[in-house]
Amino acid sequence: MEHPENDSQYTGLTVNSGVIQPPVVNPYLKRRRKPLPTVPELVEGILKGDITMLSRAVTLVESLAPEHYALAQEVIEKCLPYSGKSRRIGITGVPGAGKSTSIDVFGLHVLKSGGKLAVLAIDPSSERTKGSILGDKTRMEKLSVHPDAFIRPSPSAGSLGGVARKTRETIVLCEAAGFDNIFVETVGVGQSETAVHSMVDFFLLIQIAGAGDELQGIKRGIMEMADGIVINKADGDNIGPAQLAQAQYRSALHLFPPTASGWKPEVLTYSGYYELGIPEIWEMIDRYFDFVKANGYFEIKRNEQARYWMYETINEQLKKHFYDNPEIQRMLAVNEADVLANRRSSFAAASDVLNAYFKR
Ligand code: GDP
Repeated sequence: MEHPENDSQYTGLTVNSGVIQPPVVNPYLKRRRKPLPTVPELVEGILKGDITMLSRAVTLVESLAPEHYALAQEVIEKCLPYSGKSRRIGITGVPGAGKSTSIDVFGLHVLKSGGKLAVLAIDPSSERTKGSILGDKTRMEKLSVHPDAFIRPSPSAGSLGGVARKTRETIVLCEAAGFDNIFVETVGVGQSETAVHSMVDFFLLIQIAGAGDELQGIKRGIMEMADGIVINKADGDNIGPAQLAQAQYRSALHLFPPTASGWKPEVLTYSGYYELGIPEIWEMIDRYFDFVKANGYFEIKRNEQARYWMYETINEQLKKHFYDNPEIQRMLAVNEADVLANRRSSFAAASDVLNAYFKR
């Protein structure tokens, strides 16, 4: 017998539309956003060392909204006269070299003699992953709960130049808030070192021994920027290899041209994990600051950096203005297709787009 359900007339099993589900989010709950503090409120807060105000100002600096940009610039401008008094120290090393472990102990060491420490970061990979690992509070267990430490992860959006500019502006805000030691951390894998180098007084390169081909693995450019090379994990069985690496780095440094500061970069070994050799590293950094302050290089370098960032900001803004233009974006798409299809040369395509931009 034919089953009644197979009959097209059968209605016993029709599915009725269900009841309308209420939204998961309560529509009546208004999300209250704290109103944005005014520029004078922010500046006053920062100068008093108020961390909440400092954080909010840094968020403004990092914001991509054009209206925030103008506000942030005003705050920075007002903080500038109170900035410049810190020791800015760049710290780099490949992932796994022990940066977070080391920054945690370096930080505590520095704070032992008082003052305040800000740890900032420049992480180019965060552009892709939309989240920064560097500067993450959980990586610096002791420092993150220290009342005199301010840890801020890398700004995550934009070009390396943009990310770096924001970190540099954050330095100004931190200094105005009374932070007298600033660490800027970066991963030792790419161009971000150059960006960090252009905003710090002292550049510390963390290395590890045991990879076998110590000197081949390091980009010469990074070594040339270093004011100090420190070989981490000099503990247990690794003391010997660490000392060997130290000797190798020392002799490699002899081959480099003299530095602009006249300072001879030093090579030390230490253990971040077992907290060995830490005071020696800070004695070296103190020696460096005494040296460059005495010979005037400290000021020269800071002036050079200020000039660099002026032009860097101009370059960045020009590029942004160009690439954000919808007409240009349309032209670029057409011209790029032409270039890829071999219909036009790269140069002809580029000059057409540029001419269109300049004629606007
Ligand atoms: P980062 O990726 O450069 O931030 O490196 P981490 O600080 O996360 O350290 C990477 C690994 O090396 C971790 O497992 C640490 O425990 C270990 N480590 C860090 N410093 C030392 C050290 O001084 N000695 C030894 N033996 N291990 C260390």
